[in-house]
Amino acid sequence: VSNVFSVPELEEVKTLLSSSKKIIITTHRSPDGDAIGSSLALCHYLVSKGHDAKVVVPDSYPKFLQWMPGNDGVLVYDYHKEISERKIEAADIIFSLDYNGLGRIMDLAKPVAAAKGTKIIIDHHQQPEDFADYTFSDTDSCSTAQLVYEFIEALGDADAINADMANCLYVGIMTDTGSFRFPSTLSKTHRIVASLIDCGAKNSQIHEWVYDTNTLSQLQLLGYALSNKLELLEEYNVAIISLTQEELIRFSFKKGDTEGLVNYALSIDGVRVAAFFAEKDGLVRISFRSKGAFSVNQFARKHFNGGGHDRAAGGASEKSIAETLTEFKGLLVQYKQELTS
Ligand code: 5GP
Ligand code: MN
Repeated sequence: VSNVFSVPELEEVKTLLSSSKKIIITTHRSPDGDAIGSSLALCHYLVSKGHDAKVVVPDSYPKFLQWMPGNDGVLVYDYHKEISERKIEAADIIFSLDYNGLGRIMDLAKPVAAAKGTKIIIDHHQQPEDFADYTFSDTDSCSTAQLVYEFIEALGDADAINADMANCLYVGIMTDTGSFRFPSTLSKTHRIVASLIDCGAKNSQIHEWVYDTNTLSQLQLLGYALSNKLELLEEYNVAIISLTQEELIRFSFKKGDTEGLVNYALSIDGVRVAAFFAEKDGLVRISFRSKGAFSVNQFARKHFNGGGHDRAAGGASEKSIAETLTEFKGLLVQYKQELTS
């Protein structure tokens, strides 16, 4: 069990959860597999323990994440503001899963910050902000889903993990570890995943449901991005892909369609940092990935108002996409040594 749960505070949380509570679980904007998987798994667990629990997310998420058990009960704040606000206000406990600062939940930040309920963070992003009563943050953990598993274990309830929880937790661990390949994948991770399969996680089917649901236009966008928009900055061991709004529209872009695109840039032999720039919602959204020691968390934090993990981070720019690319390339000069030594 992650030692973040081997603290006296865990006993206080255990006491808090020993009687039936109204609980809201929140997660970050543009929720990914770990955000939805960990939130739904915790929700299933809390409901199984007699609590009134509900997941509230800031905005919608891709179809490949909508099959998980409990999905129909998720409140999307963008579409259900009033009821979400009422429930957040009335909650005894608010969990913050898979995010490290209220800025990550957009407009949900206001009602969550104002709420009187006890706030509990379970997260693995770097530099967690101090906005909760209890912060269980393990930045070495591969995923929030793994932390939720260990949280349930630490509460003495590993036996309560059922097939619904196991399927959701599997999605979170699988997606945040790049299917068990990133260095954050420990032997412990495989042990946890093995026990999830024993609890009923349909491992092989989950890979299909998450990764084999491409549309034709999505693959054509991938083909276009790789043949026309992938740029190798050999001098820095950096590769980038950028897509304008017009290009996204041309390929009927839907949320999630560019998920994983940045990894193709990172897969080029010798490339240490990859970045993907997309013009979305009047902003340029950026995904950073790295192999090796270069911290894209620090880079995104310093230059693009973002953050995340050492090897996977995000950020944004209010400049045009052309200006953002120029700015990015200009910044590389000062990192040349680090990127090439
Ligand atoms: P992605 O590139 O997949 O959007 O994000 C990569 C990782 O960085 C994810 O773990 C995501 O939650 C995190 N992330 C993305 N954008 C931000 C941001 O603006 N701030 C912080 N703290 N984390 C981010
Ligand atoms: Mn995560």
